[in-house]
Amino acid sequence: MKAVVNGEGGVTVAEVDEPDGPGARLEIRSSSICGTDLNFIAMGATGFVYGHEFAGVVDGVPYAIEPTLHCGTCDQCIAGHTQRCTNGAANLGIFVNGGLCERLIVPEYTLVPLPASLPVEDACLVETGSVAMHGVRRAAIVPGERVVVVGGGSIGLLAVASVRHLGHPVDLEARHPAQAAAGERLGAGRPSGAYDVIIEATGSASGVIRCTELASPGARVILLGVFHDTVPLPGIVTLVKELTFTAAMAYGTSDGVRETELVAQMLGATPEIARTVITHRFALADAPEAFRVAGDRAAGAIKVVLQP
Ligand SMILES: [Zn+2]
Ligand SMILES: [Zn+2]
Repeated sequence: MKAVVNGEGGVTVAEVDEPDGPGARLEIRSSSICGTDLNFIAMGATGFVYGHEFAGVVDGVPYAIEPTLHCGTCDQCIAGHTQRCTNGAANLGIFVNGGLCERLIVPEYTLVPLPASLPVEDACLVETGSVAMHGVRRAAIVPGERVVVVGGGSIGLLAVASVRHLGHPVDLEARHPAQAAAGERLGAGRPSGAYDVIIEATGSASGVIRCTELASPGARVILLGVFHDTVPLPGIVTLVKELTFTAAMAYGTSDGVRETELVAQMLGATPEIARTVITHRFALADAPEAFRVAGDRAAGAIKVVLQP
């Protein structure tokens, strides 16, 4: 079968062995490129198939994949926080073979059933959407609070969609005009004034500083971006406003709701989200071009999807 591999010559599509072993045999139909994959290329990470945002069919039945590998028996897993598994949580597509290929054998527990209204070609968005929804749920927004998202990439836009889905108004501060336009299509307003909840979706130190500027006294800042380094906080502003910072990573089950299923329902109910966030589609064979486009934010790419 064919798989996207990163090697000395960069990203290529190669012939690799068919997967085998126990689990469900997934025929992949959509698989999107994440900033994490672009980071892997920059790091020179090789030896595994990338792709943690994917969906496909098992025996003709469509599923999205919740790619967190976890033990299911530790305290965190039992509480539903599988992303915090203390027995070595891992992820399909992150130093373990993932979904940028034609077929993959996955644990049965990773399968997320899809509503009939969500095409499998769009269902790779369930993973990214769940990252965003998890952060929004951790914000515990109360009706009447002012909410803003800082950062108009796919996570920021899906955070906008998630806040709207939960019934609250939201504004978006985006760097690129195409991102701001996408935010408007999803129901975001233009930022003005101060906010009770600020969702950081840039993963940059400057983004965190911007969040503190936009905060009302007593506001909550949700750290949804991925930070590899120590992040400096503006000390006096943070102190004077008594800000609360909450980290959010991946997704799990909370209040008895599996966040991936909640997002599959959201994407099925509002097709405009996938139409807005997925800006490019390529055949698997065109992966090198797809990665080039995904790396060029200024050119208007938001989510780039490969369709094996
Ligand atoms: Zn991702
Ligand atoms: Zn566990």
